[in-house]
Amino acid sequence: MTNFEAEKQTSYIGRFAPSPTGPLHFGSVVAALASYLDAKFNKGLWFVRIEDLDPPREQSGATNLILDQLLSLGLEWDNDVLFQSTRLNAYQSALQKLSQKSLTYSCDCTRASIKERGSIYDGYCRTRDKAPKHSFAIRIKTSNGKISFQDEIRGDFKQDVGKEVGDFIVLRKDKLFAYHLAVVVDDEYQNISHVVRGGDLINSTPRQIYLQQLLDFKTPRYAHIPIAVNDQNIKLSKQNFSPGIEMKNASTVIFQALHFLGQKPPEPLSRASAPEIVHWSICNWDIHAVPKLVNIREKPLSEA
Ligand code: GLU
Repeated sequence: MTNFEAEKQTSYIGRFAPSPTGPLHFGSVVAALASYLDAKFNKGLWFVRIEDLDPPREQSGATNLILDQLLSLGLEWDNDVLFQSTRLNAYQSALQKLSQKSLTYSCDCTRASIKERGSIYDGYCRTRDKAPKHSFAIRIKTSNGKISFQDEIRGDFKQDVGKEVGDFIVLRKDKLFAYHLAVVVDDEYQNISHVVRGGDLINSTPRQIYLQQLLDFKTPRYAHIPIAVNDQNIKLSKQNFSPGIEMKNASTVIFQALHFLGQKPPEPLSRASAPEIVHWSICNWDIHAVPKLVNIREKPLSEA
């Protein structure tokens, strides 16, 4: 291995971070595959992190199902799987760091009261004299000014978090840590250098960059792949009961996912095993061939 290759090997760390709300559906397989291929093409490491911070939304047994699905698809992760449920102290100290800098405040506004006052949270509790005592969320103060980043697939992306999103929640009323806080704490902890994930999260990225800046964390590079939608243009997701993929069809699934990602596997390869197809895909991965689209309509695999 040349020095350059060795350096490349340690400088790329990617991850797939599913929430265990059900088995992987086609959209999440595409995200897993894209992040895996980009990591392995760049001689990097690929971690799996289970984002199990929201017990009411979780399905028992989903974690094992997801991990089994990944293995059947030939997507083997490096290191141990990280479970967010074991990281509560780290989220608590990040929250403390933010509140010590006077960047947070408590808020007991209801969804209905926020909606009555407008579509974006108006900072009502930010200037309140008395902080709420019971059942409150913690919000982060945002400021106006654009946050921009260069998405590896979609190109330049800008958002004014203060104006377009407003002060957002970092600790929920039910005392669960919010996704945005946990994700930045763990991306930093795991030294993630590249985040390749579904395009439905592109609007969340500036919020995450904002938190990284406040917490003095590094900002990874981001690439957002198109969202797989059904005939009604609705994202395939566990919430709208998209079917979990059938592992007896692992090769077909990988093959379809490669087409979705704009890759061009040769037709005879469709008869190979999933790990063989994945091996071909690592060597031939081309992130620039991934369509720069927000949505791509995809028939659920059960109907294919
Ligand atoms: N846990 C999130 C999900 O399943 C993904 C988080 C991320 O990739 O940043 O949608």
